[in-house]
Amino acid sequence: MNTTRSESLFERAKKVSPGGVHSPVRAFKGVGGVPRFIERAQGAEIFDVDGNRYVDFCMAWGPLLFGHRDREVQEAVEQALSRGWSYGTAEPYSLELAEFITREIPWVQKVRFVNSGTEAVMSALRVARAVTGRNKIMKFDGCYHGHVDSMLVRAGSGLADMASPDSAGVSASVASDTIVVPLNDIAAVKKAFELHKDQIAAVIIEPLPANNGLLLQTDTFLKEMAAAARAAKALVIFDEVISGFRVAFGGMAQLTGITPDLVTYGKVIGGGFPVGAYGGRADLMDWVAPVGPVYQAGTLSANPVAMAAGLTMLKKLKGDNPYPILAQRTERIAQELEKIASKHGFESQVQRFSSMFWTVYGKVDTADSMVRNQAQIPATQKERYTKVFHELLKRGFYTAPSGFEVSFISTAHTDAQFERLFIAFDEALGA
Ligand code: PMP
Repeated sequence: MNTTRSESLFERAKKVSPGGVHSPVRAFKGVGGVPRFIERAQGAEIFDVDGNRYVDFCMAWGPLLFGHRDREVQEAVEQALSRGWSYGTAEPYSLELAEFITREIPWVQKVRFVNSGTEAVMSALRVARAVTGRNKIMKFDGCYHGHVDSMLVRAGSGLADMASPDSAGVSASVASDTIVVPLNDIAAVKKAFELHKDQIAAVIIEPLPANNGLLLQTDTFLKEMAAAARAAKALVIFDEVISGFRVAFGGMAQLTGITPDLVTYGKVIGGGFPVGAYGGRADLMDWVAPVGPVYQAGTLSANPVAMAAGLTMLKKLKGDNPYPILAQRTERIAQELEKIASKHGFESQVQRFSSMFWTVYGKVDTADSMVRNQAQIPATQKERYTKVFHELLKRGFYTAPSGFEVSFISTAHTDAQFERLFIAFDEALGA
């Protein structure tokens, strides 16, 4: 595989941007090698500047449920673009999207659009602190909630591959307001609520933790966690930046039947354009300026082009209901990959949910044979994933450049591509 143009662009990029990238995991540090510079994409495929093509299982980290360059999203964007692309004042696009979301998702009575998942989380936490008059936030070890200072404490995502789990530049006083507990451990949750009685404003969780592998939580744990929060008069914030509109239209809140007080969205809600959102109970959202005293603003918030993309995406999801078929396809991939691994005598299992899967490379030694928290990820994960990653890449399959990130499928992926993936995986394990 010729990668000379990517190599030379990467050398240039390193001179002008930290690590040559604009988001750390893109630099391939976790797996080594040269990041591919992507020139264009279509459906489930991406094409790099050297003319190589890859079946994409990273899918821009989640937003593209209908694949790259979905025709309807593209048309809506082009139409919006032809009228203008930023007004900095009220416009009908965000109204239509907000009405659609609040109509279809009962626990989102009011919504505010921002530009990223990080902003959504940052703002939701501010609301929670204002409403409760408390400062502390409970989060879970390995859950990533964007690069908000207070959330860069034992997070996941790109950080999972780095030497230190925390970020430099986060002050000790900010970090001290974050309480970190292990996932899937209700006793730890209850203990933390006792220990910090009347101080915890909210508990924030990815109800489907997907930034440090796919750490499936039990419904029982999620329900007990929410009940413990309510008993302590703390708000429940579901961070559905990945799971929202992806695992079901109403995300994990819909699937678990748990009603969060506040919820954060990103990724799918913008159809691949920069959109984040936070929303929830109207009485909480009315704390936000200009109605309430919680300040939050944005020059480019509710950008009309991004809103048009998001609205088209969500309407199409509602109309098509692609969730059952995507889950079936994921199940098939998972079973097939497990079969191939076992043929090679390879310790491996595929944890999956809806249109996402994560391959565990190593022995899983837990009571229910599932990896449900960070400590249970086998020590062999990084090294073995890295080898498989490069073998797959060589054969034209692009998975996330980190063994701690999940794979995403879209409606644009085809059975023929999956068949080729199975052959490539078989060869990769052989190699
Ligand atoms: N929350 C979760 C659950 C996420 O997965 C992410 C991004 N991976 C974020 C927040 C941050 O979103 P963004 O990268 O758009 O700032």
